[in-house]
Amino acid sequence: MENFPGFPNGIQGPELIENMRTQAGRFGSQYQLGHVSAADLSKRPFTLKVGKDSILTRTLIIASGASARWLGLPSEQALIGHGVSSCATCDGFFFSGKEIAVIGGGDSAMEEALFLTRFATKVTLIHRRDQFRASKIMLERAQKNEKIQFMLDTVIEDVYDVSQKEVTALKLRNLKTGKVWDFPTSAMFLGIGHIPNARIFEGQLDMDSEGYLVTTNSVFTRVPGVYACGDVQDRRYRQAITAAGSGCMAALEVEKFLDDEGQQP
Ligand code: NAP
Repeated sequence: MENFPGFPNGIQGPELIENMRTQAGRFGSQYQLGHVSAADLSKRPFTLKVGKDSILTRTLIIASGASARWLGLPSEQALIGHGVSSCATCDGFFFSGKEIAVIGGGDSAMEEALFLTRFATKVTLIHRRDQFRASKIMLERAQKNEKIQFMLDTVIEDVYDVSQKEVTALKLRNLKTGKVWDFPTSAMFLGIGHIPNARIFEGQLDMDSEGYLVTTNSVFTRVPGVYACGDVQDRRYRQAITAAGSGCMAALEVEKFLDDEGQQP
């Protein structure tokens, strides 16, 4: 990670997480690893189903994030971290002086393409249609950028080269002409949307049309004692530092909530 404050030389994501975990452990935090498959927020204490067990809790902070949407090609999955990425701000720097492809036709793709022009010699935006979901202003900004070229009506059929463990080219197909060709590139950035990890709260918490949790005052859900922070409720900034900041807000609210109830946090 090149953009988390406090690490002038960057830091690997897993190392940052481990550091945070160790630091929180110094203050008595306990960890339990598990997959939460269901939640009952209808009464307190709230119940979380984790494997065969149930966890009862007086308050809850949901920080389950959003997962990038992928094309679903096996070669794409094999090359994540080796030239395939869904995060321009995280990985763009590694492709300085190279040619980069960005996939998608919405605001995320425009934003990624524009950001990547800081590093790349050329950015090719590949979109499966000739109409865009992107806002007019973002689209125009990308169209005006001399480093960005548009390739429309085109889909990705394969990503090369899994055997070399790096991206060297994309196999493309033009949906209108049927033409298939190999397009050399050093990286493929996906900008085809995110899926918030909030499905288990469906019907219990407010969500927007795309399933992001709706919060007021940054971190409050409609259920007293339940807070949400980070990418599961933030479709706009989606940065580690903004997620960490909203996590801090949620923790402070939990403390205040329990304090107001006369309970020790
Ligand atoms: P989006 O608007 O849903 O756009 C996703 C794009 O990816 C679409 O062009 C879609 O193509 C394409 N796509 C989806 N699945 C694909 C697949 N399997 N193969 C190829 N292409 C695929 O998502 P988004 O761009 O992430 O934006 C989500 C929301 O966040 C929007 O409301 C957006 O305005 C907002 N946002 C705002 C900003 C900003 O204001 N700075 C920045 C980022 C996001 P089709 O068009 O053919 O369906």
